[in-house]
Amino acid sequence: MSKVLNGVYIDGSWRAGNAVLDVINPATEEMLAQVSVGDALAVTQAVDAASAAFSDWSKSTGRDRAALLRKIAQGVNEQREPLMHLQSRNNGKPLFEAAIDVDDVIATFEYYAGVAEAMDAGQDCPVDLPSADFSARLRREPCGVVGLIVPWNFPMVTTAWKLAPALVAGCCVVLKPSEVTPLAELQLARVMAEAGLPAGVFNLVCGTGLAVGAPLAADPRVAKISFTGSNAVGVQVMQRAAETIKGVSLELGGKSSLLVLADADLDLAVELACGGGFFNAGQMCSATSRVLVADSLADEFLQRLQKRVEGIRVADPFADEVEMGALINRVQYQRVLGHIQRGVEDGARLLCGGERPADLAKGFFIRPTVFTDVPLDSALWNEEIFGPVLCVRRFATEDEAIALANHSDFGLVASVVSRDNETAERVANALQAGLVWINAPQVIFPQAAWGGYKQSSIGRELGPWGLAAFQEIKHVIRSN
Ligand code: NAD
Repeated sequence: MSKVLNGVYIDGSWRAGNAVLDVINPATEEMLAQVSVGDALAVTQAVDAASAAFSDWSKSTGRDRAALLRKIAQGVNEQREPLMHLQSRNNGKPLFEAAIDVDDVIATFEYYAGVAEAMDAGQDCPVDLPSADFSARLRREPCGVVGLIVPWNFPMVTTAWKLAPALVAGCCVVLKPSEVTPLAELQLARVMAEAGLPAGVFNLVCGTGLAVGAPLAADPRVAKISFTGSNAVGVQVMQRAAETIKGVSLELGGKSSLLVLADADLDLAVELACGGGFFNAGQMCSATSRVLVADSLADEFLQRLQKRVEGIRVADPFADEVEMGALINRVQYQRVLGHIQRGVEDGARLLCGGERPADLAKGFFIRPTVFTDVPLDSALWNEEIFGPVLCVRRFATEDEAIALANHSDFGLVASVVSRDNETAERVANALQAGLVWINAPQVIFPQAAWGGYKQSSIGRELGPWGLAAFQEIKHVIRSN
């Protein structure tokens, strides 16, 4: 067993915390590392450091910030392989998925470096006024010290989506990774330190939600909390933030649909259903866990889907030809099995999966699972499962499919499969979702926004919207 890792980085130096957390490899159930984590005092000290660094950092130019972001992207790129391995070991996801994560982090830092480079020229731009007696200019200024709180399903990725734009805006940061998956963020913090970020601009406090996340959301000196996680915790974060009228950006749960229209390419539809349901073992806020299939195709689709799903290789993330890895921990494993059990009790028909693979004695593995005939009022149909479980329903008309997809408290994403562009675009326009893919896997570009309708989100990440989330708008109006 290696030594206990320091999980607190404040004002440019690593510190031990006041408690030790075990980090588990979910594919083997073995302890991977121990991390010394912080508490409310560490949060106060991190906010002290961030507040002290803010004066200088907020005055740095976009060009200066861009140079640092490019160095961070380069540092991550140089550590691509070890970061992938770390991600797979800590999260249970296959290496090919971990590679997508690391590449996304690099792309995000590079994209926001480009945004930072263009920023100086746009600052103080004149504002047209309907009077010659006055002139006005527009400034975009950093909102202050910000708290970033992230979950375990895409460690480092959700962090990069917040961290890169926050730094470009000129904010100083206190980051709280998930206590379940702190290892990739600890490595990212080392990369940030090597890139030469001034002390105090980036601070990290590992620890539990209650010990670290809650005091961060409550600290009156924190101007904004950007949170990704469950709706239940999102509500608590918002309540705490409300006490000091903090800004909040929330990325929460989803119950998204994949619509297989009557003219769909069935092989493509099956692949997209598997990708949308089983990537990251289904632990995606954007999982298209509702699959809506046109009546005319449904029998054939289900036959092909069952064959494909039964052939999915579930294995250790480092095994040959692995397609799906482990769930994150025992709690999540039992929660998902509980949902499956309840789905059966509620009258849904289990087409395949539903149990752990017979050949895997250890690890939090569940076979990819497909239900059909899922009752509309069941938990399976309405709640986020956050595991490898697809629910398939048939529809008769396009309007019925759209109504079924939109009937949800959430509205994060959707996918449409159709050979006819006009039909697909019309359906995409009718769906209440922040991102709709047509005949495409769940590709994500930093140029396009991430976030959803209804209870899925408040605000948007990525693109210029992700940057605006960390900026204040100031107009200066002068008498001529
Ligand atoms: P979670 O809400 O349990 O935890 C998220 C983070 O909040 C963790 O760092 C946790 O330690 C912290 N936290 C817990 N209690 C807190 C409190 N009282 N105050 C402040 N912080 C607290 O979520 P999870 O189980 O880690 O992640 C799964 C959830 O995240 C799912 O619901 C999923 O849909 C959601 N998610 C959403 C998106 C998105 O972009 N919309 C992306 C990924 C995950």
